[in-house]
Amino acid sequence: MDATIINGTRIAEDIKAEVAIEVKQLQSQGIQPGLAVVLVGDDAASSAYVDMKARTCNKLGITSRKLVLPGSVSTKELLEHICRLNDDDSIDGILVQLPLPKHIVKHAVLEQVDPRKDVDGFHTSNLGSLLLGHETLVACTPFGVMELLRRSGVEMQGANAVVIGRSDDVGKPQAILLMHANATVTICHSRTRHLPEITRQADIVVAAMGRAAMITRDFIKPGAVVMDVGTNKVSDRATVERLFGKDEARWQDFNKRGYIWVGDVDECSVKGIASMLTPVPGGVGPMTIAILMRNTIKAARMRRGIAC
Ligand code: NAP
Repeated sequence: MDATIINGTRIAEDIKAEVAIEVKQLQSQGIQPGLAVVLVGDDAASSAYVDMKARTCNKLGITSRKLVLPGSVSTKELLEHICRLNDDDSIDGILVQLPLPKHIVKHAVLEQVDPRKDVDGFHTSNLGSLLLGHETLVACTPFGVMELLRRSGVEMQGANAVVIGRSDDVGKPQAILLMHANATVTICHSRTRHLPEITRQADIVVAAMGRAAMITRDFIKPGAVVMDVGTNKVSDRATVERLFGKDEARWQDFNKRGYIWVGDVDECSVKGIASMLTPVPGGVGPMTIAILMRNTIKAARMRRGIAC
């Protein structure tokens, strides 16, 4: 029997509806939550993501502010802009859209964001709190994966979980969150030996490597739950043909845009062995923005000492 496909779009809509209710509650207390998104340069994909975040804010009643800076901005100037947002009481959340141009010192920028407004959860102070299991702002994508697991009724306690990828924004926080949920966690990366042997022990696999369709059924234990974080642009016809055969929806997308989004998991191969699987698109992706909205509300509450 094929895996149940976890509908991230629907779950993300549920979370956004919950956020909209919380926004109304805050407004009734005289609090208008606000999110500032900082965009450096004119990368089309980043600009589209920022606009999508602003639209979602507007739908949910959150004030959004977009700060667009030229790609030539210096680290010092960028830090000064962030400082001003830190001091601005109408702003609860600050997000610096990544990636930043190469000349910018990314670490300095992420550290400049007031941890109480760090809705991306990338500040060392928030990562430290996460590690210690304190209530804090947590990176949106790994938290989104946790919500998908919880809301799909996946038993995490005592489960063997394997996270593939150890980046600061996905793999590391993901592994910590799973550990706090009482899973037994293994973290794999590009130097891991015998990866399929390790992943075949897992009840839950989180794939976050940025390697299109790398995880095939040979990596998966029968009945495992597979969460696909990967978002890879595939613009080569032969790869689409190999991965999806004659799948009409994929080809429609490909013919319209000249590329499709493919996860780190080979969906067609894995769906025959996993018990649950997140699709790409429509799995983890929509959750990231829903959790960003939730983090903004959380920041608004925490900053004012209101219980979350
Ligand atoms: P990243 O910073 O490039 O990290 C990739 C990680 O995967 C690294 O730890 C790397 O190992 C590991 N890796 C690479 N190749 C591997 C291999 N062949 N076998 C095992 N491990 C391997 O990427 P990221 O920011 O974590 O993002 C990962 C993927 O998630 C990307 O496709 C990204 O686009 C996607 N993403 C999606 C969302 C969303 O909202 N859906 C959000 C964030 C990211 P080393 O540490 O040894 O180099």
